[in-house]
This record gives sequence, structure tokens and C-alpha cells, in this order.
Amino acid sequence: MSDCIFCKIISKDIPTDLLYEDDVCVIFPDIKPIAKTHLLIISKKHIPTIADMEDGDEKIVGHMVKQAKEIAKEKGLTGYKLQFNVGKDGGQEVFHIHLHLISNQG
Ligand code: AMP
Ligand code: ZN
Repeated sequence: MSDCIFCKIISKDIPTDLLYEDDVCVIFPDIKPIAKTHLLIISKKHIPTIADMEDGDEKIVGHMVKQAKEIAKEKGLTGYKLQFNVGKDGGQEVFHIHLHLISNQG
């Protein structure tokens, strides 16, 4: 999606502090952190919202959760929140699925 900010970060047209990258997802810090640690786990596939998931996308979403717990472990976080905002009415502002990892540790 040419006008999607997260697609531009994934394609490296917009530079960011990439903490992790594989074939399925990337992880970088939220630009407006709401806690000591606030990371975004983002699918490389442009899926606008969790409500737009198609058959097979559960593998992507499962992988995102797995990489969230891996980076939390690496950072020594013993407690954190994982959150998907879904749709405008759910507080979603960027319409490309992303998992917030939020912790007061780190
Ligand atoms: P949501 O409200 O769930 O769509 O969350 C979007 C999040 O993306 C917000 O917490 C923003 O602070 C964050 N965000 C927007 N643009 C960027 C960016 N260029 N780099 C890092 N985080 C961003
Ligand atoms: Zn996108």
C-alpha cells in the first residue's frame, strides 16, 4: 500500500530504529510511547485490521505474538501487555495490523 506509513517503514522508505526483522514481521519502538517499553510488532503483509484477516493470516498473527514474547524475554520483561486496537471505534489509527507490546519495565 503506497500511502501506508507502516509499509513505508517495512520497505525502508521511512527510516526507523528496527529492533527485529524476519520474513513475516518487523519490530520497532512506538514513536509516542505510553510506557517505559512500548514496541510495535508489525506484519510485513498489509492487512488493514484484525477484522480483515483472511484464511491463513492466523499464522502471521500467531508469529507476531511469538516474536513479541521472544523480544520481551530478550529484554528481561517479566510482565507486559499485548494489544491489538481493531478499527476506528477500537482506537486504531494506523490501518496496517500491529501488536502493541507495553510494559512499565525495561
Ligand atoms: P494504533 O492506534 O493501534 O493504530 O497505533 C498506532 C501507533 O503507531 C501509535 O501508538 C503511534 O504512536 C504509532 N506510530 C505512528 N507512526 C509511527 C512511526 N513512524 N514510528 C513509530 N510508531 C509510529
Ligand atoms: Zn501497510
